[in-house]
Amino acid sequence: MLGMRSNNPHKRNARPEFWQLSMRCCQLAGCVDVTFLFIFILLGSPILAWINVLSVAMYAYAYRAFKQRRNRLAILLIRTEVLVHAGLGTVLIGWDSGFHYFLLMFIPALFVTMRARSAWVLAAGLWAYYVGLDVLMWYIEPLQPISSSALLGVHVFNLTVVFFMFSYLALFYVSTVTRAHKSLARMATTDSLTGLFNRRHMIALTEKELARHHRCPSNLTLLLMDIDHFKQINDQYGHDMGDRVLAAVSQSLKDSMREQDFIGRWGGEEFLAVLPETDFEQAAVSAERIRKAIEGLVIDCDGNTVQVTLSIGISQYRAEEPLSNAIARADYALYAGKSAGRNRVEVAQC
Ligand code: GH3
Ligand code: MG
Ligand code: MG
Repeated sequence: MLGMRSNNPHKRNARPEFWQLSMRCCQLAGCVDVTFLFIFILLGSPILAWINVLSVAMYAYAYRAFKQRRNRLAILLIRTEVLVHAGLGTVLIGWDSGFHYFLLMFIPALFVTMRARSAWVLAAGLWAYYVGLDVLMWYIEPLQPISSSALLGVHVFNLTVVFFMFSYLALFYVSTVTRAHKSLARMATTDSLTGLFNRRHMIALTEKELARHHRCPSNLTLLLMDIDHFKQINDQYGHDMGDRVLAAVSQSLKDSMREQDFIGRWGGEEFLAVLPETDFEQAAVSAERIRKAIEGLVIDCDGNTVQVTLSIGISQYRAEEPLSNAIARADYALYAGKSAGRNRVEVAQC
């Protein structure tokens, strides 16, 4: 039921979940064949029972191969088992046994795991095999027929297993796509070093907040924050240490925000926080709390302890003005704070 690209399967199927799924399918298929082994012993069909012994052995070997990371061999064993078992089961006890349904499970696996062209070629081969088997059974009688009630039992059992396996695979494919979407969305909106929103996403979020502000005006305040003398940290301890300081400061900033506030990395060591429904006085209290939190932060890296301070500029958004104006005022206040000695909160007056 599984497929792989012929030239380098690891390149395309490197995701560990895929191999986990393959191993789980291997276990499940092995259990199904053990059940069949007992069914065919009870039905007195030694040939079919032996086929299932062989199948169980192949799945056990494939499982071992997966464990040893010989994925190519494992996939080859599984593919061979499904093709041969479905073919033999159909020829021996008839089309109505439903063994051929297992072949259909190859189709999604081929297209998910291979290049489109190779998948089409193999799907065409599979179609020829499937239709050939169907046509063949129009002309020949089953070689090892079983009673009609036993045939019905095998048919229903096979249908049940195929339904379950299809559902399980569908769930896997959907959750893989959903995870990929989430991870892409996270990458597009988050700064990888600090885990804060990136500048582009901050602008989008703030514009959205401003649209809400236009509908029902209320106080909205911006805090523009910049780490003081950050260049010295890089110069003294190296860039890696600088990165760690940025990450630690960002975490502390995130922890200092209220539920409704949002914060992002605005530039190198500069951060922007948006505080909805907050006036100047409330924003100044928040900013002072943040400043103190950063001042008290002791960052321990490889035996060195580093402390930094933050300068903060505050501006209040004025109805209908462009966002850039409010940010420019916060920037102005921030640099007034830098000029006045750093580690300060400054409010934009105009
Ligand atoms: P001031 O108090 O005036 O803000 O001084 P400063 O040293 O903090 O400011 P300056 O603009 O002179 O230097 C900022 C430094 O931040 C320079 C740049 O190399 C560093 N920087 C920017 N982004 C990163 C980063 O992602 N990682 C590290 N380690 N350093 C960064
Ligand atoms: Mg700085
Ligand atoms: Mg700066």
